[in-house]
Amino acid sequence: MANDSNKFQAIISHCKEYGFIFPSSEIYDGLQAVYDYGQMGSELKKNIKDYWWKSMTQLHDNIVGIDAAIFMHPTTWKASGHVENFNDPMIDNKDSNKRYRVDHLIEGFAEELRAKGEKESNEADNLLGQMESLLAKDDFAGLKSLIETNNIKCAVSDTCNWTDIRQFNLMFSTEFGSTVSSDDEDNKVYLRPETAQGIFVNFLNVQKTGRMKIPFGIAQIGKAFRNEIVARQFIFRMREFEQMEMQFFIRPGTQKEWYEKWKTTRLEWHKSLGMPAEKYRYHDHVKLAHYADAACDIEFEFPIGFKELEGIHSRTDFDLKQHQEFSKKKQQYFDNDIDPTTGKAYGNYIPYVIETSIGLDRMFLAVMSHAYEEQDLSTAEKKDSRVVLKFPAKLSPIKLAVLPLTKKDGLPEIAEQIMADCKADFRCFYEEKDSIGKRYRRMDALGTPFCVTVDHQTKEDNTVTIRHRDSMDQERVSIEKLKNIVLNAIA
Ligand code: ATP
Repeated sequence: MANDSNKFQAIISHCKEYGFIFPSSEIYDGLQAVYDYGQMGSELKKNIKDYWWKSMTQLHDNIVGIDAAIFMHPTTWKASGHVENFNDPMIDNKDSNKRYRVDHLIEGFAEELRAKGEKESNEADNLLGQMESLLAKDDFAGLKSLIETNNIKCAVSDTCNWTDIRQFNLMFSTEFGSTVSSDDEDNKVYLRPETAQGIFVNFLNVQKTGRMKIPFGIAQIGKAFRNEIVARQFIFRMREFEQMEMQFFIRPGTQKEWYEKWKTTRLEWHKSLGMPAEKYRYHDHVKLAHYADAACDIEFEFPIGFKELEGIHSRTDFDLKQHQEFSKKKQQYFDNDIDPTTGKAYGNYIPYVIETSIGLDRMFLAVMSHAYEEQDLSTAEKKDSRVVLKFPAKLSPIKLAVLPLTKKDGLPEIAEQIMADCKADFRCFYEEKDSIGKRYRRMDALGTPFCVTVDHQTKEDNTVTIRHRDSMDQERVSIEKLKNIVLNAIA
């Protein structure tokens, strides 16, 4: 399993240096596991969102999108089970007082074992197997003894002096109104830990106003918040992050078939971006969440190893049933299609749900880590190198850089005219400072697929040099053809 921490560190530095991602409130030394997207990062993130949104809503006649509020009635989280169950088993080291998520502690140790060789790799698999089965039984004493017998140590104190394992709720809370005391449970509101519940509580609103017929889906992109304990993997695990979720409402009994369908559809979506198939794998869950009857992750090979990028969950009718019970409002759908076995309409039922849930920030990291390449371009005559971000063109923050060779002789005016002709269709960038070579390198580092150079020949025959980012090939094309070349590449 690849775990390339040098590459990971290089990506983090690159993201900061080129305006993709900054630590939040950096002038105050940052806030752990919270990040800001800069001028380039916010463009890339928006392009990923648009790509997902379009593929889910525009390309599926039976899926519509919503944008629900982050704050929800506090009963939502009682009904969904998050107040009771949104816990992770934690363990503290008594010497360093550092707290760990039990699964992360054991997984980290297994990674270290794996790096040692084949024999240790088998031990790691065995260890993870034992962990999964203990987690599935909520056997905390067994997990603690697994940690102790394997002599798994705290990274800070280097000791194996552990507390018992306890559950820790991951939801952030705040209060509504100005005079409310913080221990007033009734006025406690949560920052949503997932966007899904905003979809469930709007199920009937959308179904009725949109005259939706089962099967249909509701998609949403939005912020979610989790008080993650071990949050030190850049944007892989954040306390404030964004999810792109879709809940697909189906007839009870059809969940197996739809679950398989969405598993395949989602993997195809990832591959449609041109990322290699071997970078992905499924991981079927052994321990199922309280709401699921089947679940798997689509894992991606990040520089920190294969990790969850997206979850596909068969959520049964758990959520709608719970909301029906807690709100005392029926969450049923009337299905007037004919059931061939009875010859009668299916009638009223609470739909089952298949969920696809992908972290936008993790998708950003997947795209960034696949795109990032350090290339040695040295020749016998001179040493040279470049960092290039080989983004799929449709995701690149800037699509076209327009570069006049010099600042005089009317070349900037022609370049500005190209900008004016193209910028309504896609994002362009104008730069006249520094040598052309330096400007190309800078655009490579931002992942810009096309650069055009306006030179003296342009004045004679209306042609420019277009340079392709990945191959670095250059060709002469007439200015009129430019826009279509870019539009075709980003379609
Ligand atoms: P993990 O096991 O990594 O904590 P999870 O199984 O709790 O993730 P889900 O509840 O299934 O995650 O959330 C759906 C998706 O949201 C995940 O696949 C992931 O891409 C994203 N996600 C979850 N937690 C975080 C986080 N703390 N930071 C960034 N993205 C996250």
